[in-house]
Amino acid sequence: MTTSAPGASVTFADLGLSQPTLNALQNVQFEKPSPIQAAFIPLAMTGIDCIGQAHTGTGKTAAFVLPLLERLNFDNRVVQALVLAPTRELSEQIANECKRLSYSSMCRSVCIVGGRPIRSQINELEKGVHIAIGTPGRVIDLIERGILNLQHLTVAILDEADRMLDIGFRPDIEKILRRCPAERQTLMLTATMPPLVERLANRYMKSPEKVDCSTNGIAVKTVDQFYLTVDEDRKMETLRRLLLDQRPQQVLVFLRTKRGADRLHAKFSRKLPDVAILHGDLPQTHRDRVMKAFRAGEVRMLIATDVVGRGIDISGISHIINFDIPEYCDDYVHRVGRTGRLSSDEKGYAFTFVTRDQGEQLTNIELRINTMLPEYKIPGFEAARPKERRAEWTGGFSNSPVS
Ligand code: ADP
Ligand code: MG
Repeated sequence: MTTSAPGASVTFADLGLSQPTLNALQNVQFEKPSPIQAAFIPLAMTGIDCIGQAHTGTGKTAAFVLPLLERLNFDNRVVQALVLAPTRELSEQIANECKRLSYSSMCRSVCIVGGRPIRSQINELEKGVHIAIGTPGRVIDLIERGILNLQHLTVAILDEADRMLDIGFRPDIEKILRRCPAERQTLMLTATMPPLVERLANRYMKSPEKVDCSTNGIAVKTVDQFYLTVDEDRKMETLRRLLLDQRPQQVLVFLRTKRGADRLHAKFSRKLPDVAILHGDLPQTHRDRVMKAFRAGEVRMLIATDVVGRGIDISGISHIINFDIPEYCDDYVHRVGRTGRLSSDEKGYAFTFVTRDQGEQLTNIELRINTMLPEYKIPGFEAARPKERRAEWTGGFSNSPVS
């Protein structure tokens, strides 16, 4: 069953949240619930299984954290809720949001992610926590060591559920959910819901209620989106020109591969001091340093791959540049969602580099977001050489080999 979002005039008090929670919300200056929060919170508070779908940057974290805070019993210091997320950065972001929103000083949570000393996570768990937040690998590790005990669990949450249920994570998720009591509540939050993922989701949930706030176009409305026709060998120069033309406050540049990201970083970091790189092969200490510097505004350009870029919530990001067109349409939605965030008043801009042979991929993205992207031309610069004359003369044989 699918519930549609209620009207925009709803307040947090209308959602049935307790007074201490309302105070916490006032503290963090959330004035009114976003549509996904207005629809998801009252449902999740009833204890039934729910799937919440909404664009990135629309406050899905608070949508699941607030009902959790209302439902847990803080007098009992055992793990009652488990939140799974695909990356360390995202897990830490959730843990922070959880701390900001938890009215009760009694609420204790732990972030259990790889790349961090396991010892301190074990210490926290042994002292007793109510909420465990983390990535599947480390969660399994701690379950298998007998440290993380899920027998008192009442709520399991998959954030970025589409990613958590894709082929890479699925075996881990199965393993973890099998350890959770069958009578638990399961919540899933996602920006996209491909049919296969929806079928899988139903396998782990009991007649879930679905809240879909993503039906009117996918990408966030406050982002102006463009594409640029580029030649592969002019991408670097195009990026340089585009940066000069746009002068972004902060920019996140996405590439498909780690090697490509490394190459771009090597090239730009020689000329600019405030450029950094983030991908899955880099050590955690580096990733932490980069995220901190980016958040502080010390890094102005961050070069990243999809896995790490997903879910990053930094309000200063004014520009997203897709140096490589994303391989999957859903990745486009996730990438572009990194700007024009709810917490920032500024408009965001997204530019996607498209080579001439990637027209079909561009069309697929446009179909996905239900919007035609206009082409952007950098004044005084040709990002792509003019088309072969011959192809123009013959009217449409643009696929003929270039001699
Ligand atoms: P999503 O998970 O949907 O991508 P997030 O939960 O990361 O979005 O939220 C994006 C930003 O919006 C965060 O900085 C969060 O603190 C902020 N936010 C969430 N809900 C509200 C609200 N009701 N009012 C104002 N800001 C909010
Ligand atoms: Mg999120």
